Amino acid sequence: MITLRRVTDPVAVRCPYCAAPILTFGEHEGQLAGNGDWLDGGDSIPRFRESLTPAQRAPNGFHAILEVGHAACCTRDYFVAEAIMVNRDLDPNADTDFVGAYFFFNGDRGRPTNFLASRGKREWIMQRFDSPLGPVLHHYFGPFQMLDEPPLSPDGMVSTDHGRRNWDYARGILLALWDDLQALCASTA
Ligand SMILES: [Zn+2]
Repeated sequence: MITLRRVTDPVAVRCPYCAAPILTFGEHEGQLAGNGDWLDGGDSIPRFRESLTPAQRAPNGFHAILEVGHAACCTRDYFVAEAIMVNRDLDPNADTDFVGAYFFFNGDRGRPTNFLASRGKREWIMQRFDSPLGPVLHHYFGPFQMLDEPPLSPDGMVSTDHGRRNWDYARGILLALWDDLQALCASTA
């Protein structure tokens, strides 16, 4: 079972190489230690949906991604595994605006409320957005050290053809927690 605690005092997200703070999450916003974004972009985790049981695929309102960021302190890249969920079935034809904004960040998601989520020894940041289709929960696991070559193509875009161990690791984390993530989403009103 996942427990949630609202972020009141700032929570630092630390570099996976040297533990320097990369950013801090406050009640609603994240504040960067340096310039730029802490995540530079990512892609859907390949074969994620296929790895779930039929029960775990319902409702279908979720998206599993891996994003890459750069730790200026160590001049090294890291990755983050993310799950974004809404407790309903989405229609790929009708819900394009929602999917674009909440799953692909093309559009305004509004102001999040930040939580520290935990299960067992694992702790992570979760952002809650209030969308037209209900609460959207966005979980961030990591950042993690690269386990493999960075998942980038020669032109610098995140590519599922590169850095396979990073993709496998991200998929594994989400699969291990999936039933609890789903239960949390279903119980969020
Ligand atoms: Zn560092």
